[in-house]
Amino acid sequence: MFIKNKSETMFKPKKKLGQCFLIDKNFVKKAVEEAEINKEDIVLEIGLGKGILTEELAKNAKKVYVIEIDEGLKPYAEKIKEKYDNVEIIWEDALKIDLNNLGFNKVVANLPYQISSPITFKLLKTNFDIAVLMYQYEFAKRMVAKEGTKDYSRLSVAVQYKADVEFICKVPPSAFSPRPKVNSAIVKIVKREPLFKVENEEFFENVLRALFQHKNKTVKKALIDSCHELGIEREKIKKILENIDFNVDERVFKLSPRDIGNLSNLLYSKISKV
Ligand code: SAM
Repeated sequence: MFIKNKSETMFKPKKKLGQCFLIDKNFVKKAVEEAEINKEDIVLEIGLGKGILTEELAKNAKKVYVIEIDEGLKPYAEKIKEKYDNVEIIWEDALKIDLNNLGFNKVVANLPYQISSPITFKLLKTNFDIAVLMYQYEFAKRMVAKEGTKDYSRLSVAVQYKADVEFICKVPPSAFSPRPKVNSAIVKIVKREPLFKVENEEFFENVLRALFQHKNKTVKKALIDSCHELGIEREKIKKILENIDFNVDERVFKLSPRDIGNLSNLLYSKISKV
């Protein structure tokens, strides 16, 4: 237990930085347990807050890197660093920093909800083994959604292409202070080799963006309407779609990640010949 100093008691959480701090230790323990943290692990945390999660990580891991944007939280950082010598705090915007230099193998974070999407896409490009992350409930449902369901999205495919993703539990507003207006959830992401081969990942990402701008339309209509995402003119994509071995009359949200991988490879081979 820390004794609060004046600057701590006066700290005013900033809504625009998603500063809803965890106060329920059960969820802190749950996140650390699910990440299977041990003394060999180098863990990345995004968002120190008052350090409730950092402290639990520091107790269990070899090293903890924390990226925090708000230097107003320095008094909390100092308290943590007095107690643990395996914590390094990086006062930066997590979206701007190069994460690949840190050499972490696990990620545990109660994410600021404003950056959920870009930070998830950024993390997926790094080489971690397990990430246990807290998100807004609706976002978490989109991450684990399967094809054919209403929550299935670009995010579902992008995550499930590179990892196994599991919904761990719902977290109520009462677990935080100040209380958010919405529910949250813990999600576990276990990185693995992609389940299918994609010829060109950048092109695959463009296909995903094009398709999911119109997820209720047919594949054909979605790709024609978003042909700019593929860098190809309307008339050319129409021609390609007339001669492709793929059911382009299927609705986008019904395609599995593997179907989208196949489609991307077929389009890539045709477009690179145009
Ligand atoms: N880990 C703490 C906890 O569980 O109580 C804090 C979680 S709070 C939801 C999110 C934290 O992320 C805040 O401390 C906020 O200042 C920080 N933050 C917000 N945007 C950030 C960014 N772009 N880069 C790094 N940290 C950020």
